[in-house]
Amino acid sequence: METVVSGIRSTGKLHLGNYYGALSNFVKMQNEYNCFFFIADLHSLTTHPTPQDLQATVRNVVVEYLAAGIDPEKSTIYVQSDVPEVAELYLYMNMNAYMGELERSTSFKDKVRSNPDNVNAGLLTYPVLMACDILIHHGTKVPVGKDQEQHLEMTRTFANRFNHLYNTAYFQEAFAFSYSEKLVKVPGLSGQGKMGKSNGEADCIYLSDSPEVIRKKIMRAVSDAGPTAPNQTKPEAVQNLFDLMKVVSTADTLTHFDDLYNSCAIRYGDFKKQLAEDMVLATEPVRSRILEIEKDDAYIQKVLKMGAEKAQASAQKTIKEVREIMGLKRLY
Ligand code: ADP
Repeated sequence: METVVSGIRSTGKLHLGNYYGALSNFVKMQNEYNCFFFIADLHSLTTHPTPQDLQATVRNVVVEYLAAGIDPEKSTIYVQSDVPEVAELYLYMNMNAYMGELERSTSFKDKVRSNPDNVNAGLLTYPVLMACDILIHHGTKVPVGKDQEQHLEMTRTFANRFNHLYNTAYFQEAFAFSYSEKLVKVPGLSGQGKMGKSNGEADCIYLSDSPEVIRKKIMRAVSDAGPTAPNQTKPEAVQNLFDLMKVVSTADTLTHFDDLYNSCAIRYGDFKKQLAEDMVLATEPVRSRILEIEKDDAYIQKVLKMGAEKAQASAQKTIKEVREIMGLKRLY
């Protein structure tokens, strides 16, 4: 059976982009593959969270994973830092990752642009750590959003380079996986680009947002003054809202508002109200499970202990084999 590996950074609450871009695939995949899902707390260290924040966000992401439907009996759910072998493999793989290729990574360049005062080495080698998350379990399928495709290309490069260097076929190639043909990109509410935590609270609908908060955020979402001629191309902000509707509403609802837009009869107030109600409905089951699970400390601990043990067993086997391949053998 093929192995699936995927992680989400523990930088806060999960939003609809995480849910439709990653988690909904996780839930389906657990019935078909050997799945490892983890909370990438080591990756989140690049932004120096306080210890208290780090712990709170890790717990939060675990709760939201479970609430979204990941079943700890079917999948291995664990916290990245509970498996120190990942950090060991990261050290080895860093030796075969070159400055030039790391500096050319789009996500690195974006981070340098947005945070010029915090260009640390962890940020540069972020794709190496991500590759190790996958390679440590011999993952071949990786359910991620579109923005992660380049990281997977780098993962394949590092795996092939290791194989070449040590004249082995030890690591396999991993590919992005999505059930839909194209990788999903959920737009944000600020009128530009994909939904993302880094774009601020108002850009995101969080899985834990109450119906009132969802309604407020949608009503405030950026749109425009409305179409002025029939069948106009929609500006990005408006197209984004339609794309969100595509995600949470029925096809009929979408066609209805699309027709109104094309005939210049759309009223954004009505359109947004419908979008908000459909969004409340789509997220309700997850939200109610979040409220239940977050109270249950014993359950969370049990899940993470079981997950850590399974992930450690898999990682320890890989590290032992990697050490042997590399010649890291004890002389005593
Ligand atoms: P953020 O962009 O908010 O920081 P992360 O980078 O932690 O979120 O993303 C975790 C997972 O969710 C990744 O697989 C990523 O591709 C996916 N993802 C995040 N935002 C979106 C989005 N707007 N649309 C689709 N997938 C997304």
